[in-house]
Amino acid sequence: MESGSRKNDDCYFYYYSTCTKGSECLFRHEPTALGCEVTCNLWQQGKCINSHCNLRHMLLKKNRKMIPCYWEMQPTGCTKPHCPFQHSVPRDNVATTEGNVSK
Ligand SMILES: [Zn+2]
Ligand SMILES: [Zn+2]
Ligand SMILES: [Zn+2]
Repeated sequence: MESGSRKNDDCYFYYYSTCTKGSECLFRHEPTALGCEVTCNLWQQGKCINSHCNLRHMLLKKNRKMIPCYWEMQPTGCTKPHCPFQHSVPRDNVATTEGNVSK
């Protein structure tokens, strides 16, 4: 029964920065949902089959500490000393050694 289309989940990059994958992207790029702050209830239950649904198919978290840092996923990594976003690796070696790098 479940066809499990990933295409129905919102693309993080499309909504928060820029998705470079375009039509190759496995996640949803839906212009009508851009700027929408409401998570689709049906989607949360896995029941929304409308790929042009104008509600968000992504869990929206107001707390930025709960949102993975976009830059940390880049090859250069996150270099912001006081980055408000969540990091998967502890960054105590970045936050306190500004101007005193011991490498
Ligand atoms: Zn995408
Ligand atoms: Zn929906
Ligand atoms: Zn960061």
